[in-house]
Amino acid sequence: MNIAIDGPAGAGKSTIAKIVSAKLGYIYVDTGAMFRAVAYNCAQLNIDPEDKERIAKVSSESDISIRYVGDSQRVFLNGTDVTDHLRDEAVGNMASVVAPIPEVRSILLELQRKLARENDVVMDGRDIGTCVLPDAELKIYLTASSAVRAKRRYDELVAKGETPDIDVIEKDIIERDERDMNREIAPLKQADDAVLVDSSYMTIDEVADRIISLAHEAGA
Ligand code: C5P
Repeated sequence: MNIAIDGPAGAGKSTIAKIVSAKLGYIYVDTGAMFRAVAYNCAQLNIDPEDKERIAKVSSESDISIRYVGDSQRVFLNGTDVTDHLRDEAVGNMASVVAPIPEVRSILLELQRKLARENDVVMDGRDIGTCVLPDAELKIYLTASSAVRAKRRYDELVAKGETPDIDVIEKDIIERDERDMNREIAPLKQADDAVLVDSSYMTIDEVADRIISLAHEAGA
């Protein structure tokens, strides 16, 4: 059984996907982390984010793989665990610049489908319900207003001791959504058969409970 969760940046997909997968005993597959690993690789190699040809070539020569340590997903780039370098805002923004490159998407698509074939998964991303797993038993489109998403991200950074500017965070979120929604290949959009969940005024537990009950209805 596969559950697809798509939605814009900062909607809470990974938080919810982790809770739901743990409750159901499924594997959580964070596909954003794979695109982030590609972006991180390019940044390490000082590649211009606009140099699509070079990014395609380097990506086809690099090995990105996923391993699970307990229930936590670790991302390996050429054999090195880079997971802890992937969460920065800058890496996320760069990920959405490299994500439209067809070669990058096709390499990661293989990996994503293989994981879903071999396991029961909760997989989150942008195109899971529309492209990666069109036959997923349950599809969720999880969203929230950009102001709410920016505030959540702001609170996370403040809790880490940083002093972010909430307006800059919201502007970056809106720009990233625009890139993700307007690209030609696999744009972010709600699949026709996805259930829309707007978490703007819901707690994490309410969202997780709703998805778990939908999963049970779908046969989990
Ligand atoms: O979800 P996360 O913020 O980690 O994703 C980083 C970026 O990777 C997204 O903004 C998007 O451009 C890209 N991505 C994608 N397709 C996915 C998952 C992520 O294009 N399935």
